Amino acid sequence: MNEASSYQRLREHLSYLKLDTAAENLSPELDRATKEKLSTTQVLERLLELEVEATRARRQRGRLRYARHPVHKTLADFDFDFQPNLHRKVVAELSTLRFVEEHRNVILLGPPGVGKTHLAIALGVAATEAGYRTYFTSASDLAQTLQAAHLEGLAHLKLRTYTQPSLLVIDELGYLPLDQASANWIFQVVSRRYDRGFSDWGQVFADAVVAGAIVDRLLHDATVLNIRGHSYRMRAHQEPAARRGGPLVVR
Ligand code: ADP
Ligand code: MG
Repeated sequence: MNEASSYQRLREHLSYLKLDTAAENLSPELDRATKEKLSTTQVLERLLELEVEATRARRQRGRLRYARHPVHKTLADFDFDFQPNLHRKVVAELSTLRFVEEHRNVILLGPPGVGKTHLAIALGVAATEAGYRTYFTSASDLAQTLQAAHLEGLAHLKLRTYTQPSLLVIDELGYLPLDQASANWIFQVVSRRYDRGFSDWGQVFADAVVAGAIVDRLLHDATVLNIRGHSYRMRAHQEPAARRGGPLVVR
C-alpha cells in the first residue's frame, strides 16, 4: 500500500473511532513530525494528547451544564478583603476538594448577601473542573421536584438526581421554615447520601425531630463557614470610607 492510501486509511480509522480531533490534526501533525524529525512514538503521543485534551474539555463542559449552577462564580472572583471574618485558609483547604473525597459536608451560614451562594457555586465549579459530578439546587426546588415525582410514582427515580452526584449543593436551606413534606424529602436525600437507609424513618413524625435529624447528619464531620460580615450587595451604602479608616462623608 502506498503512503497516500495509508494516510487515507489512517484518517478513516480515526474518524470511525470518533477520534475527530486526532483526525483533524493528522495532516498538520505529520508535517510537523517531518519538519522536526520526531519519532513515531512522539507523533502518536502528540496526536493522542490532542484527542485526550479535547475529550477532557468536552466532559468538563458536560459536567458544568449538568450541575445547573444559576450563575457562574469562581473563588478568584471572591473578594476576601471584603469579608475579613472569613478565613481564607479554610476556603483554600476546601478548594483542594478533599472534603468531597472524604465525604465531609460544608455548611455556609450568614445573613443575606455575604456570599454564601457565591462560595457554594465556586466550590461546585471547582468540583466539576476536578472531574466530580456536581448538582446545584435550592432546598425548595429539591422538595417540590421530589414531591411532584412522588405524585407520579417516580420519586425513587428522581432521588437519584440528588444521590448520585459526588457533590450536592443545597442552597437556601434554612431561610424558610420547611413544611413537614419538604423536610422529609431533604431528610431522605441526606440520609441516602449517608448510606444509612431508613432505620429511624418510622420514628420521624414531628417537624422538630426531622429538623434535628437533618442537622445531625449534616453537622457530622462538617466544615462550618459562619460569615458574619456585611452584605456585598449593600457595600456602596455602608460607610466604606469609615471602614478603611478614611474620612466619612455624609451627604
Ligand atoms: P448570599 O448567598 O450569602 O445571600 P450571594 O452569594 O448571593 O449572597 O452574594 C450576593 C452577590 O454579591 C452575588 O452576586 C455575589 O457574587 C456577590 N458577592 C458576595 N460576596 C462577595 C465577595 N466577597 N466578593 C465578590 N462578590 C461577592
Ligand atoms: Mg444565597
